[in-house]
Parts: sequence; C-alpha cells; structure tokens
Amino acid sequence: MKKIGVLTSGGDSPGMNAAVRAVVRKAIYHDVEVFGIYHGYSGLIAGHIEKLELGSVGDIIHRGGTKLYTARCPEFKTVEGQLKGIEQLKKHGIEGLVVIGGDGSYMGAKKLTEHGFPCVGVPGTIDNDIPGTDFTIGFDTALNTVIDAIDKIRDTATSHERTYVIEVMGRHAGDLALWSGLAGGAETILIPEVDYDMEDILARLKHGTDRGKKHSIIIVAEGVGSGVDFGRRIEEATNLETRVSVLGHIQRGGSPTAFDRVLASRLGAYAVELLLEGKGGRAVGIQSNKLTNNDILEILDTPHTIDQNMYQLSKELSI
Ligand code: ADP
Repeated sequence: MKKIGVLTSGGDSPGMNAAVRAVVRKAIYHDVEVFGIYHGYSGLIAGHIEKLELGSVGDIIHRGGTKLYTARCPEFKTVEGQLKGIEQLKKHGIEGLVVIGGDGSYMGAKKLTEHGFPCVGVPGTIDNDIPGTDFTIGFDTALNTVIDAIDKIRDTATSHERTYVIEVMGRHAGDLALWSGLAGGAETILIPEVDYDMEDILARLKHGTDRGKKHSIIIVAEGVGSGVDFGRRIEEATNLETRVSVLGHIQRGGSPTAFDRVLASRLGAYAVELLLEGKGGRAVGIQSNKLTNNDILEILDTPHTIDQNMYQLSKELSI
C-alpha cells in the first residue's frame, strides 16, 4: 500500500487531532503518502481530498476538535453514496482508509469494507460506547470536563444547601454519567442501561437529609430523559430546593488530556500498521492496556455494556 486516506466523522471528540497526527506521521515514517479527507463522508463523496505532509499535522496534538472537520452525511447511508466515495478514493490512488469516529462512522467503514475497500476504524467519541475497546478517544477529556463542572456546582450546592441535577451527554451509553458520578461523589446516577425507581431515589434523598445532609448531586445521562423535568419532579416530591444544570456541548471540547493524546497516538499509528500489513476491515482498540483489533463487520453486533460492578460500587459509596 503506497497511499492511504484518513477522515474524521460524526460527533467530534478531543483527541481526534492527535489521532490524525499519528496516522499521518506513522504513514510517512513508512514512506506511505497520506491524504486527508475533509468533512467526513460528505467530503469523501464531494472529493474534498488533499495530500498531507509532516507539517500539516504540526501543532495540533493539544487541540480539541478536528482539523479535518467532521460532518453527518445521510447520503453515505445509501449504496450510491458509498460507491461515489470509493470512486473518489480510487481517483486519488488511495488504497486504504482510516476512519476516526463513533459507531455511526464505523457503520460507514463497514459498508466500504463490504464493497471491498479496506478500512480501519479508530474509536473517537466521548461516549465510550464502542465495543472491543476499554476506552474511546475523547472519553477521558470529557470526563474531566464533567468532573470540573461537578466540583464547581458542588461548591454552590453546599453553600446554598440545594439539590442539583446535572445532565450529562450519553444518549445510549451511561459511561460518562457513571464515571463522572463516581468520581464526583454523586448521590444518585441515572443511566440508560439501568431502569430507575423514583421511590428509591426519593428514599435515598430522604435518608441523606435525615442524617443531616444539606445538599445532593444527581447525575442524569441525557438518554434517561430531560434533567429539567427530572429536577422539577424531585422538587415537587420533596420540597428540596432543586436546581438543574445541563452541561451540553462543553463536554465535547477542550484540549485533550494526556491519556487521550497517548491513546489517540497509539491507536492512530496501529491503524496504519494494520493497513500496511494488508489487514483492512478491522476496528482497533485497547483492552487491558494492550492494542487489539477486531473485525469491523462484526464489532457493532456486540452490544456495548456498562461495568455493573462499578455501578453497584457507586450505589454503595453514596449511601
Ligand atoms: P458517530 O460516528 O459519532 O456515531 P453518526 O451516528 O452521526 O456519528 O454517524 C456519522 C456518519 O456515519 C453519518 O452521518 C453517516 O454519514 C455515516 N453512517 C452512519 N450510519 C451509517 C450506515 N448505516 N451506513 C453508512 N454510513 C453510515
């Protein structure tokens, strides 16, 4: 393989830039040309493709977002769109593609692989919901952003003796809520993977106030429902002064943590290694700190699960 491409797609995540940098530098190290495909799959279809040099990825390892831009592209869900993409790749002589993104982007990479074009998926999403890897690029940074917010909210919650509901991202996956709730000492954590019982939540709040607690923090993953509605229900049921904070898109931005930069560097470089070994159709990951790769055609069939032990621990430590 003498020419490869790289794109970022779907929701951006901090560390995508570090992954792009690793792909470019690793490829050039092995005398392989690299082409950046801008704006995800829509740029692929439209032919927004440029050759990248060593200097093209200078000064981005510490930056959030993605230098290659990202997009959502409904057309790529059609076979016509996918074939147009392959045509563009062939036009530029590109023989393999690294796709950095979440599960939607992996679906695109899977389709390209099914059409016979070798792709390697690199997990880039703050949701930490890609099977076959313990961590996705961006999760650690988002987690630290949420923790920073929880710590600040805790100061005001304590001063005013209020209950706070904090809504965090996670439509289908509760990892960000669970990890931030555990690290932030939240009293209650609501995640999409576990049904909640309002009576139990109210009993826990009452138990806290009975033993003299003046404030509480409740973390709600957005997939469970609206934090605003939830806060209203708590206030109505308890008369506790309740405030709601929806953290929103600040969770997507910011300079990636050292962990995410290292993870992105390792996974980006590994994706190139696999392509150069002729192993397309893989999805890279890290499990127990070892680099792993799985079949991209099958990886999305495995449902993402949360760590039940950690969920149980969060309950035990917040009594
Ligand atoms: P993420 O990668 O963050 O999960 P999305 O779910 O929005 O983000 O997916 C990103 C893009 O991946 C979509 O806009 C689309 O271009 C492509 N994609 C998603 N699902 C499919 C599919 N079933 N087939 C082909 N491409 C898809």
